[in-house]
Amino acid sequence: MTPSLKDHVAIVTGSTSGIGLALAEAMAEQGARIVLNGLGDPEKIEATRAGLAEKYGVDVRYHGADMTKPDQITDMVTSTVKAFGRLDILVNNAGVQHVSPIEDFPTENWDQIIAINLSSAFHATKAAVPVMKTQKRGRIVNIASAHALVASPFKAAYVAAKHGVLGLTKTVALETATFGVTVNAICPGYVKTPLVEAQIADQAKARGISEDEVMRNVILAAQPTKAFVTFDQLSGLLLYLVSDAGASVNGTALSVDGGWTAQ
Ligand code: NAD
Repeated sequence: MTPSLKDHVAIVTGSTSGIGLALAEAMAEQGARIVLNGLGDPEKIEATRAGLAEKYGVDVRYHGADMTKPDQITDMVTSTVKAFGRLDILVNNAGVQHVSPIEDFPTENWDQIIAINLSSAFHATKAAVPVMKTQKRGRIVNIASAHALVASPFKAAYVAAKHGVLGLTKTVALETATFGVTVNAICPGYVKTPLVEAQIADQAKARGISEDEVMRNVILAAQPTKAFVTFDQLSGLLLYLVSDAGASVNGTALSVDGGWTAQ
């Protein structure tokens, strides 16, 4: 069977870890050529890159753009187009978190979260849209969050950035709709990744409760299924959105949160 994304070119920001890496792998498995991005130990990143390329027999590259640096983000997109001659899929996934009451929220953490979680998607999208419009086909998928739809205390910057991602998603979707380019947001509930594991300790500190209580009463309290969302559940939706069947799904927020935002 021909893999469904054979010869497609996909950039996934923040794909050296967690959800981004899982989404990149799911697309590599379907034959896509992948550009990985993200922070980390260069040797580990190279091992990840080479491992994916070998396992799936596809071209996998790495671009080290820092998602706080607009010029580097633009270069990630333009150098990908130069190398492969096209760009079919952009997944804006890079994200960080900081948990603190508003009155103590460090301004530098606010600035960093807005830059990485929101502005990076703007810069990458701005560079990708002209290419996709010319191709008359493209898929932009923003990894937002349940926190793009509802808030939780102590996450001012994250919630603001993710709500902003949804606004960006809707706006660009309207601008590209007649060009075969769709723009959508996936809004996961809690997924067990390094980003969430770090929050368990931070939440315990901010709320003055134990880490066990945070897991039970804070993190999975929001999720009616009482189970973490899995990588496979997210990649299944991504593969649908980037397929031809997803062509009319545009400008929307797709919740994968076990019912969290139904409450
Ligand atoms: P993670 O910490 O495992 O991965 C984050 C990725 O972003 C890493 O590859 C990291 O290197 C990269 N990154 C961070 N700062 C960067 C920078 N300045 N430049 C380039 N790359 C940078 O986290 P994750 O849980 O996989 O999160 C991925 C996305 O999913 C984020 O946008 C997050 O908000 C979102 N999300 C996560 C959850 C969850 O429960 N884990 C839920 C909803 C949404």
